[in-house]
This record gives sequence, C-alpha cells and structure tokens, in this order.
Amino acid sequence: MAELPFDQRDGWIWLDGETVPWRDAKVHVLTHALHYATSIFEGQRAYNGRIFELEAHTDRLYRSADILGMKIPFPKDEINAACYDNLERSGYKDAYQRPVVWRGSEKMGLSVKGTEVHVAIASWEWPSYFSPEARLKGLRLCISNWRRPDPKTAPIQAKSASNYPISCLSKDLAERTGYDDALLLDWEGFVGEATGANIFFVRDSEIHTPSLKCVLDGITRRTVMGLAEKRGYRIVERDIRPEEMADFDQAFLTGTAAEVTPLSEIGPYSFVVGEIIKQLMADYDALVRGQGPSS
Ligand code: PMP
Repeated sequence: MAELPFDQRDGWIWLDGETVPWRDAKVHVLTHALHYATSIFEGQRAYNGRIFELEAHTDRLYRSADILGMKIPFPKDEINAACYDNLERSGYKDAYQRPVVWRGSEKMGLSVKGTEVHVAIASWEWPSYFSPEARLKGLRLCISNWRRPDPKTAPIQAKSASNYPISCLSKDLAERTGYDDALLLDWEGFVGEATGANIFFVRDSEIHTPSLKCVLDGITRRTVMGLAEKRGYRIVERDIRPEEMADFDQAFLTGTAAEVTPLSEIGPYSFVVGEIIKQLMADYDALVRGQGPSS
C-alpha cells in the first residue's frame, strides 16, 4: 500500500510548546524559512522507547540555531522532555524523530528582524533508511558532480536546510541512474560525505574518514569511532583523495537514519562487506538498544 503523504497522517506534533493534531501542524506559504532556508533540524531515533543520544542531538540543534542566528525560545530540558512526550503520545517504541526550528511568517524579506523562531517535533515509524537487502549486499554509490562547499561560503556545521539542496540533487542523480546514494567530494576535491551520512574506509586494522573540515559532525560518526577504538582499530581523520579509495577493501556509511551501512561500490571502486564492518554493525545495534557492545 502506498504510504500516506506526510500532511495526511494522524497523530500528534509538538508545536511551539503545545501538542496539536498532526494534520493541524501547518505553516503559511509566506514563511521566511520556505523562501530563505532559515531553518535547522535534527534527525534522531528511538530504540525500545529510548531516544539514542538525545542530549547530543539537542546540543547540536541549539548549536545549529546559534550558527543561523536563531534563539530557540525554550530551554534545552523542555525540548528534551517534549521529545519524550511526543514519542510516548505517538505510541512508538522504535521511531525516527524530527525536531525542526524555523523563522515564521511574521515578516517577509531578507531582514530577519521581527520574525519569530518556531519549533516543532514529530515522530514516525521509519524502520530502515536503505532497504535491508541493499544494506546486506552493500550500497552502490555514484560520485556526484556537486561538491561540499568551502566552510567560508556556507554554514556547513549547522544542520541547516540551506545545506541540503546539493544532497537532494545528488540523491536524485543516484536514484535516476540506478544507485542507492551518492558521494560528494569537498570543494577541494577530497572525499566528503554521502547525501545524509558520513563515510569511512577500512584497510587492515585502520579506519580512515574525512576530517570535519567540511562534513557534518555526525553523532553516529562519533559513536562508531568510539566503538572502533574499543575494538582496537586505529582511527585516522584526514584528507582522502578520491583515487585513494582503490587502496581500501571495506567502506561504510554512518548516520542516525543510515546507522552503520556497508558499501560495495563507489563509482569505479569496489569494496567487500567485511568482518570489521559486520562487527561494528553488531556493536552499534547492541549499543542503541541499550545492550552495550558485545565483546
Ligand atoms: N552528514 C549529513 C549531510 C547528514 O545529513 C547526516 C544526518 N544527520 C549525517 C552526516 C550523519 O549525522 P548523524 O550521525 O548525526 O545522524
């Protein structure tokens, strides 16, 4: 059965401090954020009724808002409580959750003066970002022509809507050409990240990943680096040239939605779904479900 459009579902959305019926959580067409991308958001997941790394997500939400010059009109603990309240009211134990913050329709024009900062939180069921079959085989990524921008030219450390058109265009290219996702290089031509996930490469007992120069500081990235270090692997954060991808035998993505997802192909480079990735997938799964990494 086709999924219902997002505005035609039932449930509850936390909106500016109140819980409203899902279908009533609307914005006007003359909303500042819709025209000028003055919005930031988070994507977090609940497993067995626990929102994984909620404080880290809320910290990043406030950091992103700060970078975009927006003051969230609620204290962090109220947002955290609202996240749990919305999850429980929605009746989910396992869910994806989206807090979003935006400038409203109080004023229109490039000036932000007089606009109000709004906040909403929605939860929905979203079992797997990539299909389970594709994940087991390893995803196939094309290499996008779009590049992650120089941090001097865009607020790239904010999880801001303004950074996502290149991700949407790259994802669309991937889907139109038979790939699962796309890799974006950075503005200097080094490996950046996938459209909505960080990337890692494995060689022997070393795990290499691009530094945070121009990729999102992923919460899953940090978590998985911690898990890998516990397993005794050395993490190397550095600039990676695209042709170096030929020197690695395993590669994987990390993200709240993607979790730990192996790759089998990136453009002309191929990879195996090896033991190190399988171990990290199992460790991550155990951790998010509150069981800690198996040893
Ligand atoms: N990079 C981008 C561009 C993303 O959208 C995401 C998803 N938030 C990530 C990386 C992974 O971040 P996280 O692990 O915090 O979900």
